[in-house]
Amino acid sequence: MPPEPQPLKVLFVSSEVAPFAKTGGLGDVSGVLPRALRRRGIDVRVVMPLYAGMRWDALERLEGTLEVPMWWGRARAAVRLGRLPDGDVPIYFLEYNRYFDRPFFYGPPGEGYGDNIERFTFLSRGALELAKVIGFLPDVVHANDWQTALLPVYVNTVEWAQPLHGAATVYTIHNLLHQGVSDGGAMFVTGLGREHYHPGEFEHFGTLNLTKAALHHATLLSTVSPTYAREIQTPEAGCGLDGVLRGRQADLFGILNGIDVEAWNPATDRHIAARYTAESMEGKQACKAALQAAAGLAVDPRIPLFGVIGRLTYQKGFDVLAHCMDRVLSWDAQMVLLGTGDGDGEEFFRSLSARRPDKFKAWLAFDEGLAHRIEAGADFFVMPSRFEPCGLNQMYSLRYGTLPVARATGGLVDTVQGYQEATGDGTGFLFGDLSPGALADTIGWALSTWFDRPAHVEAMRRRAMSQDFSWDRAAASYERLYLEAYRRRRGHPFAGAVSAPAPPPTPSPRPPPPRRRPPGERARSPTRRSRRR
Ligand code: ADP
Repeated sequence: MPPEPQPLKVLFVSSEVAPFAKTGGLGDVSGVLPRALRRRGIDVRVVMPLYAGMRWDALERLEGTLEVPMWWGRARAAVRLGRLPDGDVPIYFLEYNRYFDRPFFYGPPGEGYGDNIERFTFLSRGALELAKVIGFLPDVVHANDWQTALLPVYVNTVEWAQPLHGAATVYTIHNLLHQGVSDGGAMFVTGLGREHYHPGEFEHFGTLNLTKAALHHATLLSTVSPTYAREIQTPEAGCGLDGVLRGRQADLFGILNGIDVEAWNPATDRHIAARYTAESMEGKQACKAALQAAAGLAVDPRIPLFGVIGRLTYQKGFDVLAHCMDRVLSWDAQMVLLGTGDGDGEEFFRSLSARRPDKFKAWLAFDEGLAHRIEAGADFFVMPSRFEPCGLNQMYSLRYGTLPVARATGGLVDTVQGYQEATGDGTGFLFGDLSPGALADTIGWALSTWFDRPAHVEAMRRRAMSQDFSWDRAAASYERLYLEAYRRRRGHPFAGAVSAPAPPPTPSPRPPPPRRRPPGERARSPTRRSRRR
């Protein structure tokens, strides 16, 4: 009998994996994508750090210690084994208190810990050591964002001529703003010699940049939406690495994230006041009434209610929203906001909430249940992002029949179909120019549609709720990406079990030629901003 074909083996490494640790979309993706890959028959194992506050006693402690080579010697870490919820994907937690027993994953709000490069060097190096110790020789190593950017570098360097050197590497950019930047003097922390500190690898305008090295070393690159894959090749959105990305355009793919359609399902959601479907929407009225009451607003189904959720940061464009609030609140509309972040932003929305309790309520907290109640109870969802690699909230909104009012950027372009007033087509309201005027005008457009063309709102809601954002679609694209990476690394196709042989993925199209910077306009300084995490 011929031997059973082996499944594709993938080592998936991430600094956050929901529900164990999450600060944003990276955590969501890392928690759900591996489960969808497993459903396709891929043998995927996840590795992440064990952070303070995690329920470690519920995890199996593996025997012995894992020795991780660090610049100062060998770190002896414990390894705990768990499973992702609702499935059998193994997840390994690297337990090393010196680096991870801290109050925050990356650092206090607005800053990063001074030794973040070292902490996540440990994660990348540790993940490869773990793979060897447990005898899991991956076909593909999948690294996610700068915290794991050293993985493709190590596969090509310290694993040279070792079994792991045969692994293809995929590097996914979830948000290019955060790049893992430090002074050039920190090169030694990676354990690699100074010969790697040059503009073709780690050096970027006099700083050490882990992402740049990953972009150079990974077999294939991906990011989380087709539009963002194009945008990051331009100076406007490339955060200083657009040139490097243009150089690898043929190896860069945009795969739109999915969402957890079980956790975010208005038909079964236990967080919300009443459940509903596209066919029977009465429950949404009850959710709206409950949300209005919880926010201390007038409980009135006729007043359109706008919801806002997200990190109160520059990326999300909350400063622009702040500048148009007076205008918006002068209209017959209500707004609720849930978010945490920049001190100034929090202060602004807190005081606005106190000043206009009749129309506006801000909750400055991180509250998963409330996020569900806002998605279900609001009529419209506002997302004025400056840039948005993919964005999850607009997909949750669409699934809950809550129409996005969103800036046409990144993944928002790929998920929201712009409203056509003449025909009633579309699933949301898009605007291009990121200014308080354009945002207020678009909120006003949603408002006038609500009052003047209610049939359009109804039809858009049903259309929005019927969109497919499941991870199964995205997982099929990742499988194709892995197979292509394998083929390029080994020079021959993967011979094991493949769930659905499919054509190789197509790289993101070449972007328009870079815009010349007009005289007098200052270059942006992505490296400075990217230190925030
Ligand atoms: P990003 O990853 O850039 O923060 P995404 O839209 O991709 O943005 O994902 C944000 C995720 O974090 C969503 O699941 C969103 O609901 C959640 N989220 C953000 N802020 C809060 C908050 N204050 N309370 C609850 N959930 C939040």
